[in-house]
Amino acid sequence: MSSEKIIIGLEIHVQLTSLKTKLFCNCSSNYRDMPPNTNVCPICLGLPGSLPVVNKEAVKKALLVALALNMKISNRVSWARKHYFYPDLPKNYQITQYEGKGVASIAREGYLEYYVDGNLKKARIRRINLEEDPGKIIYHTGSMLTSKYSLIDYNRSGVALLEIVTEPDFSSPKEVIAFLQELRSVLEYLEVADFNLEGSMRVDVNISIEGGSRVEVKNIGSISEIEAAILYEVARQRSLREKGIKIEMETRHWDQERKATVGTRTKETEEDYRYFPDPNLPPVEIEMDYLEGIAKEMPELPNAKRERLIKEYGLSSYLSYVITSNKKLAEYFEEVMKYTKIDGEKAAALIVNDLVGWIGQERIKDIGKLVPPAEMANLLELLRKGDISIKIAKETIPELVSGRKTTEVLLSRGWLGRISGKELDEIVERVMRENEKAVEDALRNPKAIQFLIGKVMEVTNKKADPKETYELIVKKIGELQKRTWSN
Ligand code: ADP
Ligand code: MG
Ligand code: ZN
Repeated sequence: MSSEKIIIGLEIHVQLTSLKTKLFCNCSSNYRDMPPNTNVCPICLGLPGSLPVVNKEAVKKALLVALALNMKISNRVSWARKHYFYPDLPKNYQITQYEGKGVASIAREGYLEYYVDGNLKKARIRRINLEEDPGKIIYHTGSMLTSKYSLIDYNRSGVALLEIVTEPDFSSPKEVIAFLQELRSVLEYLEVADFNLEGSMRVDVNISIEGGSRVEVKNIGSISEIEAAILYEVARQRSLREKGIKIEMETRHWDQERKATVGTRTKETEEDYRYFPDPNLPPVEIEMDYLEGIAKEMPELPNAKRERLIKEYGLSSYLSYVITSNKKLAEYFEEVMKYTKIDGEKAAALIVNDLVGWIGQERIKDIGKLVPPAEMANLLELLRKGDISIKIAKETIPELVSGRKTTEVLLSRGWLGRISGKELDEIVERVMRENEKAVEDALRNPKAIQFLIGKVMEVTNKKADPKETYELIVKKIGELQKRTWSN
């Protein structure tokens, strides 16, 4: 049974959070944390007589995405009304775009390459289009199914959404997640969206088992929920199949609390939506010059940066992948490398494993403010020259994160010019020879080791590595004990 192929296609809605205003009016696109129904105007409330005006920046951002996703771009972008009745949609239609006779969405037939376990994959993008976000329904208690009543907040109504529709090119949750992560980093590189903001990406997942009807699971808000929803839905469809029950084409809702998909309605057909061109919005002509100007603004994208970091800094493909999956982190890495000659892979490992480990994923956006690149480079340079050990470098990093400077930390801890290895071994030997009484004490009472450590510190002016000193003395005392017993 489990050998049957799973087929998954995605409809991804991304809020263009970098825009100042909504898609067709001057209300702020930043509706978050505003009192309900205060970020509204006659246009986004859909009041009669109000007229929408296209946000030019939104079209520009969508074109940038279209270019990055290798798409065919329309020279004429038109707007359509998609009709359905739902309380969060004040006009009873959503202004969107439509692929049909004489009308077109912004772009179609593109693709995005992404990696799964180091293997390059390619997902085709069917189309992208701009549309308005509806308002938000707030359930009084619990969920859609259990709440006694619901409240509506129109602050979000009219915020620009970019809908990205893929072909059904995925066959596992793993592929879907890897693809979404790649897409997110591309969109972050293009500075169209900030995915730290709650609700900035919502995904409809279409799932079928080979030969069966597809089920659309609507509006999933996070990558981990997407995985759970796919696993649940695949298991549900398989068990229906095993029982010989036909899977209906339907729209289901993902219930986060119950971790299950719930049937909501049978799927609308295109006719149900009664698409027609919006008479209030003339089509937008996309001129070649304009498009070329946008292409010139295209930043280096994650995949290209990945390749370049491998070539330029000798990074492994793994660390290059990790570093470039976040634009800020990649920029930070390159800034650090300007001030040090250390091997790139070593620097990348310390940045990814230790620095990011202490800072946390959410604070990567401020990494350069938390630990200035020059401070990090200073530490790496000392490591390269052999002035400090990798262990000390690692121990210094959390102190840098708490705002201290590299040399300040190293000097105050007596780590700079530190004595270790063979040199320290010789000093320990000498101290033990010169303090026979203390050694005898230590053979009987392990606590007496402290005295010897103190002596080593005294002799070395506190430059001996404390941990290494301790370990050396314990080892040597242990060897002496063995000798004493065997006598
Ligand atoms: P609609 O416009 O009615 O939502 P589409 O044919 O445009 O339907 O497809 C919508 C989504 O469903 C796309 O993301 C597509 O990849 C996906 N899809 C199409 N066929 C299948 C299938 N057999 N199994 C899973 N997903 C599918
Ligand atoms: Mg659809
Ligand atoms: Zn408005």
